[in-house]
Amino acid sequence: MVINVAPLLKQPLGTRVDIEVEESPIDPRGDNAGLLDAAIVDIDAKLHATHTNPGAYLEGSADAHVAAQCARCLTPIDTPVHADFAEQYFATVPVDTGVGIVAAPLDAKTVGSDFMVDLTPLLREELILVTPVAPVCRPDCAGLCPVCGDDLNDRPHAHDEPVDRRWTALQELRDKIGKSES
Ligand SMILES: [Zn+2]
Ligand SMILES: [Zn+2]
Repeated sequence: MVINVAPLLKQPLGTRVDIEVEESPIDPRGDNAGLLDAAIVDIDAKLHATHTNPGAYLEGSADAHVAAQCARCLTPIDTPVHADFAEQYFATVPVDTGVGIVAAPLDAKTVGSDFMVDLTPLLREELILVTPVAPVCRPDCAGLCPVCGDDLNDRPHAHDEPVDRRWTALQELRDKIGKSES
């Protein structure tokens, strides 16, 4: 979602505006489509922008769901994520002659001469930071059987693996010998 901060920057310092970004599911052709790059499937964010001397200070929180796969059983899951954030956007051009412009730090987010601020990269970055690396479908997910690959949640079982293999090999040998003798 892109917002125009020019009206805010024309207001006295300290003026605050509320911004809400809510979309479920996210439209691939909509304003928030950039969130889909981070597998974010829905968004409910509440922000406010405050006019500060170097520009606009954005702070807020976002709740979203990220499409993922359970790290243990591989079931598709939507992981809920929550992010709290604050970011200073530095104005690079005065919106009117009355406002002094301070030099923005090199790595700072800036407001260009069109005074449009795209919130999508900010929300995407903040939500990626809180997305778990190895999400699980539930805390006690048993995962997949390492021997046969079956889902241990659906079919709890164990294999007596080493013995099984030895007996199988012996059985095969016996079968071979039996066949060649007959
Ligand atoms: Zn699972
Ligand atoms: Zn198994």
